[in-house]
Amino acid sequence: MSYRLILIGPPGVGKGTQSALLTERLGLKALSSGDIFRREIEAETDLGRLAKRYIQHGELVPNGVTIEMMAKRLRDDDTRKHGFVLDGFPRTVRQAEALDEILFEMEFGLDKVISIEVPEETILHRLAGRMGCTKCGEIYHSRNKPPMREGLCDKCNGPLFVRTDDQPGTILERLRVFRETTAPVIDYYASTGSLLRVDGSVGPEDTYRQIIEAMPR
Ligand code: AMP
Repeated sequence: MSYRLILIGPPGVGKGTQSALLTERLGLKALSSGDIFRREIEAETDLGRLAKRYIQHGELVPNGVTIEMMAKRLRDDDTRKHGFVLDGFPRTVRQAEALDEILFEMEFGLDKVISIEVPEETILHRLAGRMGCTKCGEIYHSRNKPPMREGLCDKCNGPLFVRTDDQPGTILERLRVFRETTAPVIDYYASTGSLLRVDGSVGPEDTYRQIIEAMPR
């Protein structure tokens, strides 16, 4: 089945983990705005240099460049063929409106907008200790899911890294930005009837099950 999905929720709620499961098991194309920005930063492009100024402080990259970057990815042939899971976009109501226009122009509908919900104290615990694989993107945690060999990915042997914006001060700023700017996006989709709220505190497989069981067949 090819679905068109949005994952929405505060940082550390498990969007990346669910996006990996959905792409692995359903063959959807993952479009993570945060990952795309991090790649641009690593490649030292103009967009990367601009994005870095905001990301390192836990602030949002301006709407104009973010929308343009995601519109380009959404128009890829792969996205048309296999469906997609958007992770981290849209993060503002302006971005949600722009996405509506892009999808309308492409004659695409959205199957589900999935809001992953977890208490804030769990999020703080999860983000302090989070590590990711530089090669395959697998996510680890120093206490909840440590890798078998320190600093190396169990799946592909790639080196693990800690995101520079997973520092205590930046985490609090990212949570504030979520409450003030991104939470209204959930209300925006609640009125369209495509919103699905799932409990993200039950572990990756149980969260995934809630998503799959609600999917149109
Ligand atoms: P993420 O990996 O989704 O947590 O994103 C990391 C950072 O990238 C965020 O804290 C923002 O600074 C930036 N970012 C990611 N997606 C967006 C977006 N849709 N709009 C603006 N900034 C974004």
